[in-house]
Amino acid sequence: MPPKIRKEDALYYHSKGRPGKIQVVPTKETNNQLDLSLAYSPGVAEPCMEIFRNVEDVYKYTAKGNLVAVISNGTAVLGLGNIGPEAGKPVMEGKGLLFKIYADIDVFDIELNTENVDEFVRTVKIMEPTFGGVNLEDIKAPECFEIERRLKEELNIPVMHDDQHGTAIISSAALLNGLELVGKKVEDIRVVVSGAGASASSCTKLYIALGVRPENVDMFDSKGHINTARTDLDPMKQEFASERRFASLAEGMVGADLFLGLSKANVVSQDMVRSMAKDPMVFAMANPDPEIPYPDAVAAREDVIMATGRSDYPNQVNNVLGFPYIFRGALDVRAREINEPMKLAAVHALAELTKKPVPDIVNLAYNADNIKFGREYIIPKPVDPRLLTTIAPAVAKAAMESGVAQYPITDWDAYVQQLEK
Ligand code: NAP
Ligand code: MG
Repeated sequence: MPPKIRKEDALYYHSKGRPGKIQVVPTKETNNQLDLSLAYSPGVAEPCMEIFRNVEDVYKYTAKGNLVAVISNGTAVLGLGNIGPEAGKPVMEGKGLLFKIYADIDVFDIELNTENVDEFVRTVKIMEPTFGGVNLEDIKAPECFEIERRLKEELNIPVMHDDQHGTAIISSAALLNGLELVGKKVEDIRVVVSGAGASASSCTKLYIALGVRPENVDMFDSKGHINTARTDLDPMKQEFASERRFASLAEGMVGADLFLGLSKANVVSQDMVRSMAKDPMVFAMANPDPEIPYPDAVAAREDVIMATGRSDYPNQVNNVLGFPYIFRGALDVRAREINEPMKLAAVHALAELTKKPVPDIVNLAYNADNIKFGREYIIPKPVDPRLLTTIAPAVAKAAMESGVAQYPITDWDAYVQQLEK
């Protein structure tokens, strides 16, 4: 069990010593006058002129290629809502810390004081020279969709809105493994989705890319079933409008194979879980409290496969299983974007890794002696050191095969060895 967090401990952690969680550290020696003349004027003029003559050399002489911008306007921070850019900064610094410890990627966290889409896009666009990639974070729907779409179109570096795609990638791996365990085919399952926001729509799209039939999906928002009788749907929701008519989530869930919850706590009862098909999957991922508590769902029936966003129960759909390694792979081949084949490669790499024997270090971290592929382990654990050496190469390969890599890797063994260092 992870420790209970006390407010005063969290505040002390962030404020002790130098406030905040990250700092900038030089990577070159600065021992004497010569070093400083190389680092700054006059020596620095040489790389400047090389880059001026060939802009690609910015990757050779600066930190750009390993630097990701974590950018937010603080409008949808964790489950806390629109708390503004300053209040979101601890989260963005935290994301920087995770990028660094899991994939040795450096981050500048950038908090923008705007809710205007044009202003946001323009600001990020003119910052492109600084960064090797952009991780959009905690931006509310529907603005997040247009911001990401336009930035992907206009920038030549990889852009990913992690709240949408990270969750989609990790839960997709859980879905594939869950299906394998119970012997169901992805094209046969009936899916009920609670929530129609940033994460729910992106997850549903990726499940469809994996083979779920669009006509087998029923989505619900705060007003009920999203169907073709509704006249209040924005274009994103219209995409998921069903021909069926359900009066309630409870009605929709009867006979469903998968419940995907990215909405609100406690909207699902034990009876609703009991009404689902044999061997149902319940991915109840509202944070911090899921659509149905883990103990309630597993008490409702023995054949349920349950995942949540929480670290205190099995099968935590944690975005940290994805973003550090997806960006690592994308940066290492200088991918122009993070595209569907790269996301799918991450899904399959995560799913496959779960089926391999777990190293001791993972068992130790969870005080377990025999974590193995099964209903309570359908996705890897965040402490697994193999995530880096499995997902980053898979993503890099997919970037090369899909034609977006500008700096191909040829010696994969050497690449993996370098990741292990
Ligand atoms: P969002 O964009 O604000 O979307 C929330 C959606 O939930 C909206 O579509 C909203 O409906 C719907 N909703 C609200 N009450 C509902 C109800 N009673 N029944 C059905 N739908 C309801 O938020 P998000 O970023 O997608 O995140 C949603 C939740 O998932 C949050 O709790 C978040 O923390 C969690 N999440 C977890 C993970 C993870 O565990 N890895 C990842 C991402 C998100 P309207 O459209 O009608 O307002
Ligand atoms: Mg987030």
